[in-house]
Amino acid sequence: MFEFSQRIAQLPPYLFAQIDKKKKEKLDQGADVIDLGVGDPDIPTPKPIVEAMKRAVEKPENHRYPSYEGMLSFRQAVADWYKKRFGVDLDPQKEVIALIGSKEGIAHFPLAFINPGDVVLCPDPAYPVYKIGTLLAGGEPYVLPLKEENGFLPDFRSVPKDVLKRAKIIWVNYPNNPTSAKATKEFYKELIEWAKENRIIVASDLAYSEIYFGEEKPPSILEIEGAKEVAIEFHSLSKTYNMTGWRIGMAVGNEKLIAGLGKIKTNVDSGQFQAIQEAAITALNLPEQELQSIRDLYRERRKVMVEALERAGLEVYPSDATFYLWVKVPKGYSSAQFVERLLEECAIVCTPGNGFGEHGEGYFRISLTVSTERLLEASERIKKLKL
Ligand SMILES: *Cc1c(COP(=O)(O)O)cnc(C)c1O
Repeated sequence: MFEFSQRIAQLPPYLFAQIDKKKKEKLDQGADVIDLGVGDPDIPTPKPIVEAMKRAVEKPENHRYPSYEGMLSFRQAVADWYKKRFGVDLDPQKEVIALIGSKEGIAHFPLAFINPGDVVLCPDPAYPVYKIGTLLAGGEPYVLPLKEENGFLPDFRSVPKDVLKRAKIIWVNYPNNPTSAKATKEFYKELIEWAKENRIIVASDLAYSEIYFGEEKPPSILEIEGAKEVAIEFHSLSKTYNMTGWRIGMAVGNEKLIAGLGKIKTNVDSGQFQAIQEAAITALNLPEQELQSIRDLYRERRKVMVEALERAGLEVYPSDATFYLWVKVPKGYSSAQFVERLLEECAIVCTPGNGFGEHGEGYFRISLTVSTERLLEASERIKKLKL
């Protein structure tokens, strides 16, 4: 009797449907399936955050509607964290807004700045929400392929003039999901220069800034001088503090861009539970030690898995950030075919690269978010693969 709106009908199909079905079949056969598909940390949220939440829940003043933009104390904690981590100055009143997880902000942001027919430059492969948020806002996504020979950085100078004229936003995400690639400050500097010349908003997604294993910490785009004139950055406590279920994130940067996002949010949600914001303040003030032990664990897991994959003759994109491995599919297979073989022969679920866009074809993604014990089991199975 009812039909979905064109807005929904135009969305790309759910590409994991096939793999979900196959996984279920395998489970029904009684196989011991190891799921390396989802990027959701298995490690619990650090204790001090949970304890802070328990205390905050007891306070009646936290039971009422929160302010739309987030408690000032939360926004101040975000500003302090940005100062400490990146050396970036933010005005907590005007340049920080609380989000109900960064996905919410990423999906809503185009509604504030995109008119029908406007173009949004979206990387591919990528977190699907950049493209979907664009479509929901009536915008037109223009695909910027991320290629291995460019270190999975977009060649923004390649955008044709007529597209550039209609382009309003460019999305970037480093350290990157799914490729695990990192961006340098030099890249950001060129991007900001180009964005200013062409009057384009730079929207950076920094969800993985704290998941790194090298000497050099991943930068924020706001470290670049003058970035605040054109940039907004989305961040989240989800991946840093194992808080995916809590739904707390933030957007920071250009005052007008924050205000636009705030206008949309004021009209669709009523802010995040204050108790969660209070717990988030505790998180942002945790000693560095706490994060270091999480990084050490991922580093160990990465080593175990890379070794197994390489032993099997597979090629892993070398990186020292994120909890993902981006692996080349062997010759003669499509992403879907090889992922299917891993499920059939090893009972391991991975994500085919084309699930993140057509330019992800030829790769698959492994997520290091299962226990080290299970990863060891998975690596034993992979080592036996005959390619
Ligand atoms: C996980 C993830 C997010 C969003 O996380 P939230 O839980 O919504 O804060 C954003 N961007 C990328 C690239 C992610 O992988």
